[in-house]
Amino acid sequence: MPVIERGEASSAPWPEIDQSLCQGCGDCLTKCPTGALTLVDGRVAVKPDALCVHCADCEAACPRGAIHCPYEVIFADEVPQPSPSL
Ligand code: SF4
Ligand code: SF4
Repeated sequence: MPVIERGEASSAPWPEIDQSLCQGCGDCLTKCPTGALTLVDGRVAVKPDALCVHCADCEAACPRGAIHCPYEVIFADEVPQPSPSL
């Protein structure tokens, strides 16, 4: 599973959405910092031109477990640093 620094705009996969679980409450839309999500016929979808910064806030916001972000999010202070040269 890819490891993504929170807020990084990378080529990691989009959030995966199980539309059969989505009830169209919109909670994920309000949490997404980039407006990457939209509702289509009452179900959430990733916009075709979306900018996703891989924060996984949409996954955390969904009360139905309809969103899965296929990567692990870490914070900047958790990024392994190179060892200082001797
Ligand atoms: S991971 Fe973050 S930026 Fe990407 S769609 Fe979800 S809330 Fe929006
Ligand atoms: S939070 Fe979950 S149930 Fe609500 S619109 Fe988003 S995916 Fe659908």
